[in-house]
Amino acid sequence: MSYDVIIIGGGLAGLISAVHLSKKGLSVLLIEKQEYPKHKVCGEYISNEVLPYLKALGFNPFVYGAKRIEELSLSTARSRSVSTKLPLGGFGISRYCIDWELSKMAYGNGAHIVHEMVDDVRFKEDQFTVSTIQGEVYTAELVIGAFGKRSNLDIKMNRAFIKKPSPFLGVKAHYRGAFPENAVGLHNFQGGYCGISKVETDLINVCYIADFKSFKQYKNITDFQDAVLSQNKYLKEVFNGCELTFDQPLTISQVSFSAKQPVENHVLMCGDSAGMIHPLAGNGMSMAIRAAQMASQLILKYKTGEIATKKDLEKRYAEMWNTEFSTRLKSGHVIAKLFSLGWFSEVIMTGLKAFPFLLPLIIKKTHGEPMKAEL
Ligand SMILES: Cc1cc2nc3c(=O)[nH]c(=O)nc-3n(C[C@H](O)[C@H](O)[C@H](O)COP(=O)(O)OP(=O)(O)OC[C@H]3O[C@@H](n4cnc5c(N)ncnc54)[C@H](O)[C@@H]3O)c2cc1C
Repeated sequence: MSYDVIIIGGGLAGLISAVHLSKKGLSVLLIEKQEYPKHKVCGEYISNEVLPYLKALGFNPFVYGAKRIEELSLSTARSRSVSTKLPLGGFGISRYCIDWELSKMAYGNGAHIVHEMVDDVRFKEDQFTVSTIQGEVYTAELVIGAFGKRSNLDIKMNRAFIKKPSPFLGVKAHYRGAFPENAVGLHNFQGGYCGISKVETDLINVCYIADFKSFKQYKNITDFQDAVLSQNKYLKEVFNGCELTFDQPLTISQVSFSAKQPVENHVLMCGDSAGMIHPLAGNGMSMAIRAAQMASQLILKYKTGEIATKKDLEKRYAEMWNTEFSTRLKSGHVIAKLFSLGWFSEVIMTGLKAFPFLLPLIIKKTHGEPMKAEL
């Protein structure tokens, strides 16, 4: 059987595309290398901008116990802090829960889901051939690449960003303990920042990104957390006062924020595989969801003939992607860079404390408008 669309990667971008396109009656194959449910390195705070669209898809995160988050507390490595009401707010839900529930929805809509690892994608004579290391070969008219921040396919496709340095490490774990349900903490430390918020299980998600150079001076994660993260009193409180519920924290390495292309080898890239915003901005998942909406809507227009050719489809998607995300990506990187400059982040904090109305304005720079409830 040949599919209308093959989606490679079943994280948020892939799953949302699968739910959207299958709900609209297209034949969809989603290929995800891991089984659901599974924990993932992620801050698990999602901006409310996605809610109208999620509801249109039939997904309400609050049914699963997602926590409503309205406040942000931000601190520098020296524990100087400022709090603000989040302009739009957001919600806390684990990737363990949301990815699994969306996969059930996609399946319920008729999407096929296989757990295999794609190792090649070819486009020839107007058709895609996708092969997996399990030896299966699938064909489709269109392919969405939703394989995340770094994949074997990036090397296979010889993507430019893969040759650039990617010196960041991501760490995440859930903890049991006291933390306000309606707040997200963004706490900086030397060489990184840590996000803290509650998820649907009432546990606290603690997730940080660190410069690999500073991490590798320590023997292990515990030593690094004790010596570096705990210099920030807010992080020390969590590490000392809360109980780790994972056997050990999850880690990912080689996180890269280098620019990527939204269309490569005729594949429409969605989510982190098209470009990754710095996690400090807390908007990567909303961007993945928005990109999935854009790709799905354009694919539907192509299928009805409103977009005449694949070339036009690719062009429209690339233009839309750049218009929607370029400024957000740049703002996210600039803000993260400024906070990484120790003394300068203290200067910024002095400014934010004197003029608290500035913080919501900075947050808005990295976030989008509420998405339209359109399929
Ligand atoms: C430390 C950290 C903290 C973050 N915190 C937040 C936050 O609080 N809020 C927020 O909005 N964003 C946050 N983000 C960003 C967010 O996690 C990502 O932007 C989001 O997960 C992107 O979704 P995606 O679907 O593109 O990729 P992913 O969710 O990574 O999904 C990609 C999928 O592709 C699969 N895959 C890869 N290669 C193959 C292959 N060859 N074959 C089959 N499957 C494949 C993978 O198994 C994976 O499931 C954070 C990121 C990091 C690193």
